[in-house]
Formats: sequence, C-alpha cells, structure tokens
Amino acid sequence: MSSNLLSQRVVRMAESETLKMSQMARELKAKGHEVINLSIGEPDFDTPDAIKQVAKDALDAGFTKYTPVPGIPELREAISKKFKEENNLDYKASQIVVSNGAKQTLANIFLSLLDQDDEVIVLAPYWVSYSEIIKLAEGKTVLLKAGIESDFKVSAEDIEKAITPKTKALLFSSPCNPTGSVYLESELKAIAQVISKHPGIIIVADEIYEYINFTGKHISIGSFPEVKDQTVTVNGFSKGYAMTGWRLGYMGGPQWLSDACNKVQGQITSGANSFSQKAATFALQTKLPETELMKTAFLKRRDMVLQLLQEIPGVKVNLPLGAFYIFPDISAYFGKKSDKMEINNATDFCDYILQEAFVAVVSGAAFGADECFRISYAASEAELKEAVARMARVLALLK
Ligand code: PMP
Ligand code: GLU
Repeated sequence: MSSNLLSQRVVRMAESETLKMSQMARELKAKGHEVINLSIGEPDFDTPDAIKQVAKDALDAGFTKYTPVPGIPELREAISKKFKEENNLDYKASQIVVSNGAKQTLANIFLSLLDQDDEVIVLAPYWVSYSEIIKLAEGKTVLLKAGIESDFKVSAEDIEKAITPKTKALLFSSPCNPTGSVYLESELKAIAQVISKHPGIIIVADEIYEYINFTGKHISIGSFPEVKDQTVTVNGFSKGYAMTGWRLGYMGGPQWLSDACNKVQGQITSGANSFSQKAATFALQTKLPETELMKTAFLKRRDMVLQLLQEIPGVKVNLPLGAFYIFPDISAYFGKKSDKMEINNATDFCDYILQEAFVAVVSGAAFGADECFRISYAASEAELKEAVARMARVLALLK
C-alpha cells in the first residue's frame, strides 16, 4: 500500500499551519526545551465552572444519546434568541444548525454551496482553514488582500471589482483571525450594498470572535436589511466561552442553506456532542461574567504586547481592535542572516524564532500575507513578556 492511493482532493489540501506549529511546539517541549507557545488561537482560560457543571449534570442524567442532527431544540431556540437580541438577526430556530465547531459549520456551508470552480472571494489576511475547506469542496479561492497600511481591511470597491459570474460567496471574519481587525459599521454597510446588487452571492460572516471586540459594539453584516436573506452567520463557543475542546459551532442562514447543511451533517457526523449542547444552552441563557472578564484581560495583554513589540526595531504593528492576535509586518528582516540561516520570508522568520528563542508563532504565509507573522496573546502576561523579550534578543543577533 502506498500514499499514491490517496485522492487528489486530499493531496492538494495543505495541513493546518496553526495546528502544525502547535504540534512542533509540543514536540520541542517534550524534548525538554522551555517553549512558549503563542501559535495556537485558543483562550488560555478554563471553561467557566457553571458551564462545566451543566455538562456534568447532563451526563449524570443520562443525556448521552444521539441528538437531532441540527442540534437540540432548546439550543437552537437559544441561538435564534441570541441572534435576535444581540445581533439584530432574524433566524428562526429551524434556520440554525449546530455542528462540531465553527470549522465544521464552514465545511458544511461550502460543501453545500460550491460546485467545481465556483469562486469564493476571501478577504485576506484570512484564517488558514478557509482556503483549504473551499478547496476540499472543489471551489476556487479568490484572495483580496489588504496590508497593514489599510489596517488589513479590504474596501467594498475592491470587492465589487473582484465579482465575476462565477462568484458564489464572500467570506471573511470580523473581528479577524489573524489580524485582529474589525470591520466598522460603515465598512460593512458598504460591503452589504455591493453584495445586495448580486443576489447570487452569499455572504459567509465568521463572527466567532464577536465577544472579543474592543470597539464597544459588534455589528453583524446580516443585520443590514439589503443582505438579510443573503447572509449566513457563523459563530461558536470556542472563543467567547473558552470552550475550544467542547467542539461546538453554529450557523444561522437562509432556510434552504440550513437544510442543506443539515443534510451534509447527517451523513458525516450525525451532529454535535449531546452534553456539550446542554452546557452551551445554559451558556447562552445565562449572562456569565467570565466572557467580559476574559475580554478585559485580553485587552490589557494586547496593550502590553503591542508596546513591547513596538520597541523591537523593524517590527511594524497596527492597532488590532478585536480577537487575541497581533499581526506584525516583519519584512524589514528579510535578507538578514544568523550564523545558521538567512531570513527570506515570514516562514524563515518564524523558524528562526522557534529554533533560537523557543517561541512558537505562525508565519503570515499561512494566512495569505508573507510579510507578517501572527502572535496569539491568549497566554499569561508573564509568558508574553518573556516571549517578546526572547524574540527581541535573538532578532538583535541578525546581521
Ligand atoms: N473561524 C475562525 C476565524 C477561527 O479562528 C476559528 C478557530 N479555530 C474557527 C473558525 C473555528 O473554531 P471552532 O471550530 O473551534 O469552533
Ligand atoms: N482558530 C485557532 C487558530 O487560528 C485554532 C486552531 C485552528 O483550528 O486553526 O489558531
């Protein structure tokens, strides 16, 4: 048996860079190195105790069987209510599909939407898995990229110019992974106006960092009446409730698309974990203080890390307004050398930082921006300080 039995679909697909860097960090740690892992985008906080308790109670009560494919009715109701109250979005419970993480939600959506070579406009820098999920669904990613000088945000005019008869969807995250950028109300409105002129295009709005938004108000693009029926809103429990391992994401979308996602999911996973869904229902119905406390902690860390990074020569940063990432431009280091290697791109830069400073970060190449790297500040202040100090030390050695 050999690997040439593999499908071209899988051969063409890249491995997740975020998960790969994280695994490399684990392996170096296992060899005894003091690695600081700032590569994975995962809150360092534990899931709130009250949420865990509901899951434990559900287990004890024997809530351990298959659930309806799109999710338990009370969770879909709670999500529908949350969308209405917090986001001004009108999705009935029947339009909600709960999945094993927002990652699966995205996979359901693109498997449902795309035929071969259908185009998806992806605003870049973008989250690593977008392009690979689109590829898996045999679609074509059309990247529209913005640099640090425009806060990594693409304009509505540029989106309009990229639309072709093959365009099926527009995909972006706000707050954005990897840049932390937040599209403001006026920017979203302008995008909504462009897309509303093209009824054959669906907006896939990834709002998983909704609760880590430092602008004071999260705006959902689906709340603009002109794209109400053209928007699928993706969210989940991983970031706002520190529930990454619980694997729960969800979507609200046009009924026909939700029905299709339900059908896909029914054949692939049968739905999300039963007792996680009970805990998630409780999380939505109860205004827990932890979500706000985590946001406050993230904001404090953002300011600290930004200041420390700004002190390193050649590291250019902007002000991220959400999520827990900073995405510095480090192109000033390209062409510099250590005894062992030359830095020619962001991947070399990240390899150098990992090998010499034992700090794991992710190359911007994975996110469509080879002049940048991503640092996740979802770590303790002590770790963050130490990590940036180590980076500064080894970068100063480059000639
Ligand atoms: N979208 C974005 C932008 C993300 O950063 C993540 C985090 N991995 C996801 C979706 C998927 O989240 P999950 O599958 O953990 O719900
Ligand atoms: N969203 C996180 C990240 O970007 C989790 C890892 C992943 O699923 O990619 O690092």
